[in-house]
Amino acid sequence: MRWALIGASRIASGYVIDAIRAQEGADIQSVLSTDLGRGTSFAKNNGIPEALTDLDMLLADDTVDAVYISTTNEKHHPQAMAAIAAGKHVLCEKPLAMTLEDAVEMVRAAREKGVVFATNHHLRNAGSHLAIRELIASGRIGKVLSARVFHAVNLPEHLRGWRINDAAAGGGVIPDIVVHDADSIRFHLSEDPVDVVAKAGTSGMGEGVEDSVMSVWSMPSGAMVQTHESFTHGFAGTGIEFHGTEGSIFARNVMTQEPVGEIRLVDQSGESPVTFQAHNLYHRALGLFTNAVRGNGSPSADGVDGIKSLAVAHAVRQAAQSGSAVRVDYGGF
Ligand code: NDP
Repeated sequence: MRWALIGASRIASGYVIDAIRAQEGADIQSVLSTDLGRGTSFAKNNGIPEALTDLDMLLADDTVDAVYISTTNEKHHPQAMAAIAAGKHVLCEKPLAMTLEDAVEMVRAAREKGVVFATNHHLRNAGSHLAIRELIASGRIGKVLSARVFHAVNLPEHLRGWRINDAAAGGGVIPDIVVHDADSIRFHLSEDPVDVVAKAGTSGMGEGVEDSVMSVWSMPSGAMVQTHESFTHGFAGTGIEFHGTEGSIFARNVMTQEPVGEIRLVDQSGESPVTFQAHNLYHRALGLFTNAVRGNGSPSADGVDGIKSLAVAHAVRQAAQSGSAVRVDYGGF
């Protein structure tokens, strides 16, 4: 399976190129950049034969089966639409698009064209999250009453740029991190938030976009979800908790790109550590995507998952701006 990269990004060079190459029979033919100099040095540094600045030229290559889109967020929609029209399978970064309508259009277009379309929500590939999901699904904590997500980090210097100062490129902690938390909650509880209330603001980093947000979501089952996302918290650590009628799950340092963290289960018999597999999250995601292209199974997070995480993030932003509860609009999905 041959890939082209749309975007000379850090997530591509740091994680996804390696994960593509970890799949049997996979190679990367080209990378698209808006800047030929940057694209050429990215290609050279990453052992990619070709750097291009013309998307149509990249997509015209019939030997390319799939594209990975990891440009800034406002570019995902036009690039994905062009790739789908060219018959390429698409792995697209989160958030799928700037608007829900655009994300819906991408997913519908991929369906009509018969190509695989996936969203790179890496967390549901983590051994820690798979173990938590299994505990919940097997009834170990009974009926889930509530969940909390702690995803307030110190955004590293090299990731600041557009994330903290460019609303037009999709900056802000809501499109950046709330989408991952929405996907994680949906993954664990197998249900979609109904409505949300939220407060957002800046706490030292955001320039024209929010760098911190807290929100509360209602789930159809009656469970309540509390979330905290921020770019400015150096020492808070990340985590996720689920509290049920028969027990509680406490997971720390699991909202991350690495296969790390600790999970504890607390119930009537006391407290016990939960073990999980420490595999590479992106390798697993690319493995499932590759299998799906070959006709076996589905990607770990598909296009509808990307629409739904974006829908929750939009509701959170709208709730924070209006000060009112907002019903989540899933665009018909
Ligand atoms: P980067 O800022 O590294 O790259 C985004 C774009 O910025 C690139 O396409 C590139 O443009 C341009 N760019 C890259 N480096 C430079 C530079 N040194 N100077 C000027 N411009 C540069 O973005 P990220 O990798 O952090 O994020 C890309 C996408 O991936 C986003 O949608 C983000 O939300 C998502 N993401 C997902 C993660 C996940 O685990 N699922 C983790 C991190 C990000 P060009 O291509 O034109 O050269």
